[in-house]
Order: sequence, then C-alpha cells, then structure tokens
Amino acid sequence: MRLRHIKNSENDIKTFPLYLDHQIHNTLNPITSNNVFNNNNPLYLELGMGKGKFITQNAIHNPDINYIGIEKYATVMLYAYKTYQKYAKENFNNLKMMCVDVKDLEQYFMPKNIDKIFLNFSDPWPKKRHENRRLTSKFFLDIYRKLLKTNATIEFKTDNLSLFEFSIESLKQNNYNILYTTYDLHNDKEANKSNIMTEYEEKFSQLDNKIYKLITTP
Ligand code: SAH
Repeated sequence: MRLRHIKNSENDIKTFPLYLDHQIHNTLNPITSNNVFNNNNPLYLELGMGKGKFITQNAIHNPDINYIGIEKYATVMLYAYKTYQKYAKENFNNLKMMCVDVKDLEQYFMPKNIDKIFLNFSDPWPKKRHENRRLTSKFFLDIYRKLLKTNATIEFKTDNLSLFEFSIESLKQNNYNILYTTYDLHNDKEANKSNIMTEYEEKFSQLDNKIYKLITTP
C-alpha cells in the first residue's frame, strides 16, 4: 500500500494504546500471548494488515483469540488506528499492531508459538526479478514454518491470479500441505459464510474481480 508519507508518523504511532513496541522484544523476551496479553489464548497474525479492518473485526468477533497486525509503514498504521477507533466503543483488548517488516519477525517471536497467519492481498511484485519479495516466496515460507505451531495454518486471499498460482507452486515446492483452494471465494457458500472482507477485497470485488483463497499448513 503506497500512501503519501505522513510527517512524524514513525513517532505518532508509538503514542497509541494498540502499539506493540518491537524494540523491547527479542528471543529472550519474545512476543507471546502471555507476555503481551496476559493470557494463554491462541495468537493470530495478519502480515501486511494495511488499513486494519479485517484484523479489527476479527478481534471483535473472537474475544478469546489474540491478534497482532504487522505493517511495515507507519503511515499505513495510522490509518489502521483510525479504523480501530471507529470500533473502539466495542471495548476489546485482544488486538495489537506492530510496525516491522515481515522479514524480521523471527527476532521478536518465540519459535512454534503462532496459531494462525493471515496473508491478505499481499503485494504481487509482478516482476520475475522481485519474486523473492513476495510474501509467499521460499524466504518467507521458511520464516512462517519456524513461527507456526505444528498443524497451524496460513490463510491467504488475493485477487491476483499470477500471485495465487505462484503461491501454490511455491507452497508445494516447500513441502507445505494445501488444505483448501477456491478460485471464487465469494461464490463458495460454505467458506464465504464466515469471510471477513479486507479493504482491498471490497475494492477489487466491486470491480468484479474474483477472490482466490487457500489454506495451507507447513
Ligand atoms: N491486507 C490489507 C492490505 C493489503 S496491501 C488488505 O487486504 O486490504 C499489502 C500491505 O502489506 C501494505 O499495507 C504493505 O505496506 C504491507 N506490506 C508489504 N510488504 C510487507 C512486509 N514485508 N512487511 C510488513 N508489511 C508489508
């Protein structure tokens, strides 16, 4: 998501109650449900949360799950705070947001401690030479494998067919097990029942793009 940089956003994000300061966390003091939320509930991450509607609504609907939204741009995170503020009267405390690059996640989390990862409308990086930057390339799949608990899943949605097909190939090559795929999520009655739309999903489905989804486990 390319938004015009908001001045001071790097400092402004730190003043919000949802802000999870990665700088105080490392492998000796890792981010776990216990350390951050003071309970032992499952921990779900959205990588590249953008404006945050998906993760905020998930948190409201599932009070017994802890959610952390990961976003690399502070400016984008300010928009996610605004989304949260729209819902703040709901009074939930199972959501945090963290401003880091996904490539660095292992530094902050405990191995084999994440219960689910969501990847929603990840940047497609269409050029072949940028393939390694796609969040479903080998480099990132290796990180997710280290973070996820045994049998935990990744749920991936996109409207980009090339990225979707690349991801299926990449998952297979890296010995991930693909549990579910659809090339038209919004017309898959069963799967769509519990679907929470992201900002990009709303935008692209209004343009009549099909939404692709897969669920996979390392
Ligand atoms: N999930 C949202 C936003 C999708 S756009 C939605 O579906 O509406 C992709 C988002 O991922 C952007 O906000 C971008 O800044 C973020 N992003 C891309 N690469 C990232 C990375 N390596 N680490 C953290 N965030 C990343």
